[in-house]
Amino acid sequence: MFPSRSLFDELSSIVQRPRVCPACNGDGWEFDRKDSDSLMRVPCPACNGTTFATPDKPSGETRKRVGQARTLEKNSTWADIALDLFRSGRLGSRGTEITSDDLRRLMPDPESPNVVGAVFTSARKLGLISRTGRSVPSNRSDAHGRLIQTWRINNVED
Ligand SMILES: [Zn+2]
Repeated sequence: MFPSRSLFDELSSIVQRPRVCPACNGDGWEFDRKDSDSLMRVPCPACNGTTFATPDKPSGETRKRVGQARTLEKNSTWADIALDLFRSGRLGSRGTEITSDDLRRLMPDPESPNVVGAVFTSARKLGLISRTGRSVPSNRSDAHGRLIQTWRINNVED
């Protein structure tokens, strides 16, 4: 099974499902007083007559999660192999602290470097790793000593 599929589906439903306009309840019209004794129908000002709620502007966090889900989908083979390394214990046994450098040493360079972060997020959501809250300089030459997070391995299949 594609491990990030459920995450992708969840995010797609958040982003794409149109909601019925709460102001007109999907009617699309509201009545406005034309003069003292007549009403006229005007398009609902909240949805402009479309009957759908204007989608909330996605938060930065939501946009980041959607971006990561799309990155995982586009690089699903790389992501699946990487997640198997967490599960199989090849990145270390339970309690081992690792960084993205350790994963990248075992993997070919990904097409999109963003998939590395997305895989770590996915592994955390799957309970395979947790954050330590600490960072260390990367040893990869092209990272120029940039600080990267350290993670603790939680779950390894027997
Ligand atoms: Zn409306």
